[in-house]
Amino acid sequence: MRNLENILGRVRKSAELLELGDKLIEILTSFKCIWSCDLPVKIRGKQQLIPAVRVWHRSPHNDKPTKGGIRFHPNIKLTDMQAHAIEMSLKNWLMELPFGGAKGGVAIDPGRCSKSELKAITEKLVDELDERNMIGPYLDVPAPDVGTNPEIMNWIRQRFAQRRRTRETAQFAGVVTGKPVGYGRDGIPGREQATGYGLIEVLEIVLRLKRISPDNMKRVAIMGFGNVGANAARFLAQKGYEIIALGDVDGAVYRRDGFDPDELSRVKTPHELKAAKITNHELLELFDIDILLPAALENVITEENALHVKAKIILEGANGPTTPEADEILESREILVIPDILANAGGVTVSFFEWARNTGYAKDPRVPFNTEYDKSILTAMSDILKKAAVEVFEYSSKHQLSLRQAAYTVAIKHVASLLRDKYLV
Ligand code: NAD
Repeated sequence: MRNLENILGRVRKSAELLELGDKLIEILTSFKCIWSCDLPVKIRGKQQLIPAVRVWHRSPHNDKPTKGGIRFHPNIKLTDMQAHAIEMSLKNWLMELPFGGAKGGVAIDPGRCSKSELKAITEKLVDELDERNMIGPYLDVPAPDVGTNPEIMNWIRQRFAQRRRTRETAQFAGVVTGKPVGYGRDGIPGREQATGYGLIEVLEIVLRLKRISPDNMKRVAIMGFGNVGANAARFLAQKGYEIIALGDVDGAVYRRDGFDPDELSRVKTPHELKAAKITNHELLELFDIDILLPAALENVITEENALHVKAKIILEGANGPTTPEADEILESREILVIPDILANAGGVTVSFFEWARNTGYAKDPRVPFNTEYDKSILTAMSDILKKAAVEVFEYSSKHQLSLRQAAYTVAIKHVASLLRDKYLV
């Protein structure tokens, strides 16, 4: 619940700063759809009912889908999904992508399921969503999140196509993003790296705008070594940052002299690295780091540990890793927080490129249509992130707001008149 209240509080504050009025605030803090279902699936030979949820926040774009990740994790809370759906809206709007926000999850531990069980769960999820007309290239387009990956996205796409191909001529590939790349797969090069790469692009532009010398911001600790954390670690190390601590669900590791890019590319988990064992709790409070990069779950920087964080910058790879109480403490200690909806928006931006290519949406000149070269796709993504970062920085300086509150406010400002027209408020 806390996560949702945090987001709603920040949205209300931004809407008040923009003097949007109570009716529009009501719209912005409500949901278009909250869906839940128990998926009947056989796991380890036994029929089980697995809870699944999908939430759509608001969108001013009636002819475009909502967009957001699907999470496979044993602990799926509806209120967290609601919070993340709003964050997805804000991220889309901040980057001026033509989507509303959504989020969903299935309450399973993917590490304890076989591949065929995961496929059966995924297909059942698509069946249940599609029966209610809740998934499609112009309805709602999922993407990878915690515990899901390109292979699962491909299963979603294939199942949807299997169900729909005789009924209509929708562009099936656009039903989901984060798909694998290659013949017949229709993913976009660079999507897997996008969020990690984008984090560094945003970090470096914020350092430049804030006139902070990058030479004093080299030592990094990362909590989470999945899609976001591992890619960020590898890109940071390649660019000369020192990654001195890495954590995942099984704990963390620390090496004072840092890990080199080659060894980071070779390992699947931090525990394969030769290094001292520490806890994630210790990682968050390390004394010899400049940048702390949470890239796992929400609410890890709290009022209990914010006083003990020694990093000078928090770069939010995860969604919602910092509570509002922690935000206040960090602000009073002049620790700079680069907020999730700006910092980690690389993923949804490249997902937008993928969707646009799959559906032939050619209106937006920012989409790189004719390249399979991942670097040029990541460059096109960076242009969008940097423009948003400058806008957020300028708004925050002009109105004396934290980067987070400025990011929320700029995002809502981008869609305020569209929402007014839609809801007549
Ligand atoms: P992932 O499943 O690939 O990786 C998650 C990582 O977090 C794993 O290393 C896992 O071991 C670790 N982890 C899980 N529980 C933990 C715990 N209790 N303590 C410490 N570590 C723990 O997920 P991901 O796609 O990298 O997503 C990570 C975060 O980034 C999520 O908040 C997600 O919503 C957000 N995000 C992801 C993307 C994307 O493109 N994948 C984009 C934007 C934001």
